[in-house]
Amino acid sequence: MATKSVVQEVKEIALAIELIELGARLQLLEAETSLSRDRLIRLYKEVKGESPPKGMLPFSTDWFMTWQPNVHSSLFYNTFVFMNRQARCEPIHAIVKSYRLYLEHLRLHDETPALSLTRAWTLVRYFTSGLLQMTPCSRCGGRYVAHAHDPQRGFVCGLCQPPSRAGRTRRNALASQIAA
Ligand SMILES: [Zn+2]
Repeated sequence: MATKSVVQEVKEIALAIELIELGARLQLLEAETSLSRDRLIRLYKEVKGESPPKGMLPFSTDWFMTWQPNVHSSLFYNTFVFMNRQARCEPIHAIVKSYRLYLEHLRLHDETPALSLTRAWTLVRYFTSGLLQMTPCSRCGGRYVAHAHDPQRGFVCGLCQPPSRAGRTRRNALASQIAA
């Protein structure tokens, strides 16, 4: 029977704590570490002071297509692609780094995060399984999260064609980031 090295185990616990602090659900922790469910639950309770929420993740690709989530998801995913390519670290570490940058960006612009860490992680999984693609906007050139196989020609993003309720300043702040 192979025994897990102590160093490896410490790394996994450190990763799990970081993920829990950033708001990860149990499913994410189980997928990204080899720690047992019982240990993860105990860790979660210790870090958060409460039991992890039960039940399946109620996500679908459609959530990422609605206006504000699409802008936030695109901001996150553009950063993730860059991180994943540049840092050459494991995807989960690229997710954590990109997610921290995403939070930092929103904090600077005084915006509330729409994307949870678990949703960000699910987004990356949807890309990996080919359900989503990045589509360039024909007006601003920024790349946006879209359904795979949707027509790419003439696509106009949510920032170039926002619903009237969206504030102009906030749009511009996010647009400059995505088109950069
Ligand atoms: Zn655009």
